[in-house]
Amino acid sequence: MSEVIAALELGGTKTVVALGNEAGNLLEEFRFPTTTPEETLGIAMDWWRARADIHRLGIASFGPIRIDATREDYGTFLTTPKQAWQGFSLTEFFHRHLCGVKVKIATDVQAALLAEMDRGAALGLQDVLYVTVGTGVGAGICSHGNLIKGTLHPEMGHLMVRRHPDDSFVGACPYHRDCWEGLASGPALEQRWGAPAHELPEHHDAWEMEAYYLAHGLYAACAMLSPERLIMGGGVSQAPGLHAKVASLLDVYSAGYFEALGKRLVAPLLGQQAGIIGALLLGAKS
Ligand code: ADP
Ligand code: ZN
Repeated sequence: MSEVIAALELGGTKTVVALGNEAGNLLEEFRFPTTTPEETLGIAMDWWRARADIHRLGIASFGPIRIDATREDYGTFLTTPKQAWQGFSLTEFFHRHLCGVKVKIATDVQAALLAEMDRGAALGLQDVLYVTVGTGVGAGICSHGNLIKGTLHPEMGHLMVRRHPDDSFVGACPYHRDCWEGLASGPALEQRWGAPAHELPEHHDAWEMEAYYLAHGLYAACAMLSPERLIMGGGVSQAPGLHAKVASLLDVYSAGYFEALGKRLVAPLLGQQAGIIGALLLGAKS
């Protein structure tokens, strides 16, 4: 019988736990709110223990978190705005409570990217960029089949982008104000226009400006990484017509230099499931 693998997706507001098989197929999952580390991970462990013996665990987590397995502080949260998690070590916790368990960790966007490459919008591709535009802006990058990690992990949301000539909004990033995330995230839209992103009507000026910012950031990413496919997901990306606007601006900014950037932009296929499937795939490879 094939081994049962545990998967955990830690989000800013919700957590998902699951069990699956080595092929990365989910057998059962459970969602609940993210609170303190001890409480959240305690619920996860009780849920797994009631169902199976756990030897391998894949984790998709919010960041910033150390994902380099060769570092002593592998699995430790760095300066996250979520105070209770700052300095908390996932690896230490699970090694203490789940004796002998093998743990593999990636960021939530990296895990979503892995899942989309395994069975979603980038099936069979090697050079893929996954960008999520929601409460924050984040990216996962795969180059020639390798997940790009760097010394911590990519933080593409904090790229500096060209300002829209009609935009006087100071920016929503607490660190840099008008970085990409500071100008294009859901909270940025809400602060600039005075209504939550999902309540802004389809023909509101907000969406022309949003497309401008998203296309500028994606254009910079394409110039650096030359991806075969760009996947844009997250709550804000679901605004009606936004994908098409961004795709056509990508072609305008390319000015005939890059081949068909707009056509490379697609929506994710796995939606809400991408993170937990990615975590399961990580666990299966641990
Ligand atoms: P999170 O980033 O917390 O995982 P989401 O990806 O759902 O969550 O992003 C939340 C943001 O997406 C909020 O700012 C919300 O207003 C915005 N949003 C959600 N749905 C839509 C929609 N259909 N159109 C535009 N914005 C949306
Ligand atoms: Zn920033």
